[in-house]
Amino acid sequence: MRLLLCQRFFVPALGFLLLRPPCAWTGPIGDPEVWSSLPSINFDVSYTGRDSSLVTGLGSAATAAHLAVRSFFGHPFTSRFDIFLLPDRQSTDRQWQRAWGDSTFQSECWMVAGGVADRLDILSPRVWKTEACDHDPADSTGFRRLLTHEIVHVFHGQHNPRPTFDGLDSLSWFIEGVATYASGQLDDRRLAEARSLIREGKDPRSLGTFWTGKARYGMAGSLALFIDKIYGRPVLFDLLAFKEQAAMLKLLGVSEDSLVASWKKFMLADRR
Ligand SMILES: [Zn+2]
Repeated sequence: MRLLLCQRFFVPALGFLLLRPPCAWTGPIGDPEVWSSLPSINFDVSYTGRDSSLVTGLGSAATAAHLAVRSFFGHPFTSRFDIFLLPDRQSTDRQWQRAWGDSTFQSECWMVAGGVADRLDILSPRVWKTEACDHDPADSTGFRRLLTHEIVHVFHGQHNPRPTFDGLDSLSWFIEGVATYASGQLDDRRLAEARSLIREGKDPRSLGTFWTGKARYGMAGSLALFIDKIYGRPVLFDLLAFKEQAAMLKLLGVSEDSLVASWKKFMLADRR
């Protein structure tokens, strides 16, 4: 996928900021720009000259997110991974077209990042104002949570037999729900929005509909919260390894209807 022009080496004890200078190499997606790679203990950040002023900050934020995800689940990542800081929407589309084997893919404006077991792609926040929507580059908390969300996907992919989540669309309620919850994106606003929709009778009735609609972060995220609070963190971690909903329900010892009904009761018990 990419041709390294210099050897990687790093000093594990020193962390991200004290590593050797970045090395230049050809781009990850065949584009004509010169890419550089800044290695750290847990991942490499690849970037173009247009984003050289952002890369240290991104690396520090990703290091913090990596630690937060590892602490949340109480388990290590199984391997290092690559972070690509993509300089514009066109290069982001090229990256995803190649990754997903679909040369016609065009991303929506709200799509700014994606994570699988060995890779995290992020559109440079430098161009979010002009080439993205629904994301504010000045919102540092939002950015940290978004990065953590994607690193949860990396962690999840590393603990699942399908590292790229291929064929797991039917488990979006869990894949996205656990990333939303573990990253801190399930804030009071999203919880309140989910609760008011439940009170209006607009709650999802099947697991397949939790990650749909405008309130999908609140719905899917609160389902992961419910599983964590009722079954415990070790069970939430164990669920990462599954690729079939039926087996997940068997582990929880409930039917789909019963899980959804219990989640609804749990949500309505909190009067906020
Ligand atoms: Zn996600």
